Amino acid sequence: MAEAVAKPPRKKKPKQLAVIHVEGCTGCEACIVFCPVDCIDLVKGPKHMEVDKVCVVDYDRCIGCTLCAKYCPWETIDMYTYEDVLPEPPPAVAQ
Ligand code: SF4
Ligand code: SF4
Repeated sequence: MAEAVAKPPRKKKPKQLAVIHVEGCTGCEACIVFCPVDCIDLVKGPKHMEVDKVCVVDYDRCIGCTLCAKYCPWETIDMYTYEDVLPEPPPAVAQ
């Protein structure tokens, strides 16, 4: 069996990140085909969902290219600013 190849890390912080709204995702995998950095994975969906597979974005590797949002046939991907998706934790305050 072939060994899994580690996916290379992103080189710089993107301005935007893609967010998949799982409630609208059909698991069609179209976004996976278009993603240039292979950072979208098909995972098991929540039990109450009608479909049993949904896609999720690896926020550590998404470069914010917008291709998945453009080509999702179900229009269930939106782009948000990096800070909206991954807000910085507030700085520690000295006591
Ligand atoms: S293209 Fe859209 S509907 Fe299809 S798997 Fe991706 S997010 Fe889900
Ligand atoms: S925005 Fe681009 S890099 Fe990010 S998940 Fe979508 S296709 Fe992949």
